[in-house]
Amino acid sequence: MAACAPRPAPPPATPAVLSSLSPPRTPWPGRTDQQAICLGELTATGAKFEPIAQAEPGKDGCTLENGVRLISTTVQLVRPVEMTCPMAVRLVQFEREVLAPEALRVFNAPLGQINHAGGFTCKRMTGNASRISEHGHGRAIDLWGFRLRDNTRISVADDYRASSKAGEYLRTVQREACRYFGVVLGPTSDAAHAKSLHWDISQWAKCSV
Ligand SMILES: [Zn+2]
Repeated sequence: MAACAPRPAPPPATPAVLSSLSPPRTPWPGRTDQQAICLGELTATGAKFEPIAQAEPGKDGCTLENGVRLISTTVQLVRPVEMTCPMAVRLVQFEREVLAPEALRVFNAPLGQINHAGGFTCKRMTGNASRISEHGHGRAIDLWGFRLRDNTRISVADDYRASSKAGEYLRTVQREACRYFGVVLGPTSDAAHAKSLHWDISQWAKCSV
């Protein structure tokens, strides 16, 4: 993480996601107005989720502000995953603008499932054990790969370096991820990410494609 620089602002969200639907504000007990706006935006995307209790900063230093348990996005998740609301909104935006259209372009088949390897989890940074990972603040997701609706499996471990459609898909979405997320890690960054992708919304910028 030595060569990190502050990252540029991400692209604006698709207007269709964030403004045209504008459902009535749902009351979200215990959340600030700003947090409630995010939860409203996430609702408008069609994602299924439940707000989860705010984690108190413990002695381990991990926190989860405005946390949600994401049950599905616009596609299935292999299992629910916990993260902050802003991270969930960014993930769904990326899915609509990149993951889903790229699946149609490369495979001519719709994206069906995100096979993630976890979101919020209290752990130290790979290669810098003194710092809490972005996962420890719910601002990151790891991914094993994807599944198309026709059941085609796309695996980071097996396909990332392959000269196949799956390889092309993974490398393309990883490159695009650098425009939406802060730190983007994968098989080209280090041995710890040989089998998974890491995307987070930290203030740092690193793009490993
Ligand atoms: Zn990670």
